[in-house]
Amino acid sequence: MCGSISGGFFDCRRCSGKQHHIQWKRKGGGHLNPLKLSERLAAVASFIEKGSVLADIGSDHAYLPCHLVRTGTIERAVAGEVAKGPYESAVANVAKEGLSESITVRLANGIAAIRKEDEVDAVTIAGMGGTLIADILEEGKAHLQGVKRIVAQPNIHAIAIRSWCLANGWTIVDERILKEDHKIYEILVLEKGQAAFSEIELLVGPFLLAEKSPVFIEKWVRELEEWQRVLRAIESAGHSEEAEKRKIQLKEKIEMVGKVLSN
Ligand code: SAM
Repeated sequence: MCGSISGGFFDCRRCSGKQHHIQWKRKGGGHLNPLKLSERLAAVASFIEKGSVLADIGSDHAYLPCHLVRTGTIERAVAGEVAKGPYESAVANVAKEGLSESITVRLANGIAAIRKEDEVDAVTIAGMGGTLIADILEEGKAHLQGVKRIVAQPNIHAIAIRSWCLANGWTIVDERILKEDHKIYEILVLEKGQAAFSEIELLVGPFLLAEKSPVFIEKWVRELEEWQRVLRAIESAGHSEEAEKRKIQLKEKIEMVGKVLSN
């Protein structure tokens, strides 16, 4: 199990930033299980094509592969987990669901969970910071030859994954943004191809920018307010070369996102 209980929620200590995710028992007592995923994980699952062979990296409870096998979307999967506790939780859940024949759980760092003979063609990496997801992809990229689709769900810093795509011959074929339990999540669907993003698309996502949904607006209004708060704090803290650089970066981002929100 992941994290500690606080106000009825499980605060995930392994997520980057302030994000937490909720599992097992939700506020109000509703339980989650492999057939009834959270909205966030259900959205990730919706991008896995029928008949795929999946590797879920950072699987924790293994709900996602269990759900996809149970619903008949996939026949087999690898659940990779680097930490012993979540690995054991994944093994136990897979056994409890009677899916040990279909889902192989491996204690492994990132893409090292995938073996050639698995013939994995789809990868999910969800519920971590974008920088960690990009690091996992970078470290394991030599083992992604047979992979046709990667579905990434960063809790923060999706820009790190879009930048990884640009540098590594992957592109984004779809994106989704959703709000669940007051948290906003982005989902990026990657396939092989040469990406070409403008600076603003890199930051906010090409598909999400084109759609400009209410949740997207809410996310970037929140970010803008936070940047403005940081800028005011830097301005009142006095001068240094570092502070000047940070101010320029923040002002550029505020202007760029401000334009998106006012158009
Ligand atoms: N994917 C699940 C979800 O979205 O609900 C679990 C998310 S949980 C916050 C992140 C999991 O990723 C943790 O169980 C953590 O141990 C695992 N993790 C972090 N870095 C990893 C890595 N390099 N390789 C495999 N697992 C990793």
